Formats: sequence, C-alpha cells, structure tokens
Amino acid sequence: MEAAVAAAAADPAGLSLSGYGELVAGCTRCPLAKGRTQVVFGAGSPAADLMFVGEAPGFHEDKQGVPFVGAAGQLLGKLLAGIGLSREDVYIANVLKCRPPGNRDPQPDEIEACEPHLFRQIELIRPRVIATLGNFATKLLSGKPLGITRVHGTEQEVVLGGSRVLLYPLFHPAAALYTPRMLEVLEADFRRLPGVLGRAAAAPAPDAAPAAVSAPGSASPPAGPGRLPRAEPVQLGLF
Ligand code: URA
Repeated sequence: MEAAVAAAAADPAGLSLSGYGELVAGCTRCPLAKGRTQVVFGAGSPAADLMFVGEAPGFHEDKQGVPFVGAAGQLLGKLLAGIGLSREDVYIANVLKCRPPGNRDPQPDEIEACEPHLFRQIELIRPRVIATLGNFATKLLSGKPLGITRVHGTEQEVVLGGSRVLLYPLFHPAAALYTPRMLEVLEADFRRLPGVLGRAAAAPAPDAAPAAVSAPGSASPPAGPGRLPRAEPVQLGLF
C-alpha cells in the first residue's frame, strides 16, 4: 500500500470518493478478495443525484474493474438513454465490490463485510434517489425483507449515509434479459424515474440524520448545474 493510502486508511473519514476508492482497492475484509482480479468500486459522477446499486461484479466487471459492463450493463445503458441520461450522469455501484465465484449469490457474511463501502459511497455522493437493482440491494438498503417483486416501482423515503434519500427498487436488468414480462415492467418502472427524481428534488434539502460527527476535510459535492445546494454533510462513523 502506498504511503498516502496507508495514511488515509488511518483516517478514512477524511477521504474523497476517489481516495476512498483507492483505499478499497486493497480491501481484504472477506474471502472474495482472494479470487478477484480487482475490486470493482463504482463508476460515474461523484456528484450524481441518481445512484444505481446492483448486486456484485460478474466476469466482465471483474476483468475491467467497472460495474455493469456486461449484457446487463448494456441494457442498463439503453434504459438510461431512454430517459435522456448516460452512465456519466449517474453513479453505479454494487452491494459487493468483488466477484463471487461463478457469479453465485452474495453470502450474508460477504454483504456484512462489504456494506461499509457502499454506505460510505452513499455518504460521499449524497444522491437524492437510489435505484436498487434486484433483491440484494433492495433488502440491504431498505432494511426490510420484502422482495423486489412486491416493492419494485414504489419509492420509499429512507435515511442513508446521514441523508434522506428516495429508494426506488427496480428489477435487476440481468433477470429482465431473460424474462420478457420482467423487462416490460423494468422499462415501465424506468420511465417513472424522471418523476421520482423530480419529487426528490422538490423535497426539502436532504439534511442529515441527527447525532453524527463531522469529519475534517470530508467531501461535500459542489452545488452546480443539475445539482441543488445541500445542507452540510454529516459523516457517520463506519469503521
Ligand atoms: N454487473 C454488475 O456490476 N452488477 C450486477 O449486479 C450485475 C452485473
């Protein structure tokens, strides 16, 4: 580990998103570290109002180090284009940052080990809407056991990473690739995303949950075009 990364590891609360990504590149929190080609941290705009959270990297993601670059990713790109967005406008991450062998389901201990990384990403990006793709992301971020078939297309307000956010569960694009009816539903839910984003933007500033500690130098995404001013960020201790 380089000296700067080692120093940052001692104070992860002070890192920017990219700095945190460098730190996570060396993660050994669970056994998936042994089988991976590389950590797939996430990709897109660090100031995105819309974030997608999938399940875990697959073969192509593990090779390229970028989430959703395989067939499911092509579909996600098409769905985004359909609502006038590109991958660069949003942020895309996964529940797990390393590929499970043979693309098997994430195990509870792996999710538990990896979730601080996702919560930290959310804390730093502070999206207004998080679209969860499939069961694993939906259950983790809603904190409820309800499956995607019951909750898809219905937004719910939650507090994540210290900010209020609208969670918008969607079917996983990989599942929709093989089930035409699911694809129709995913497309219909996707068409409602601009409305969800509009409602999230119209809501009061996503100020922080109480009882958090501000870390020195913590990242605050700038206000700018397409990005509304926000309350000061609040950093929750995750380590
Ligand atoms: N690729 C990803 O990055 N995540 C998934 O959940 C599926 C494919």
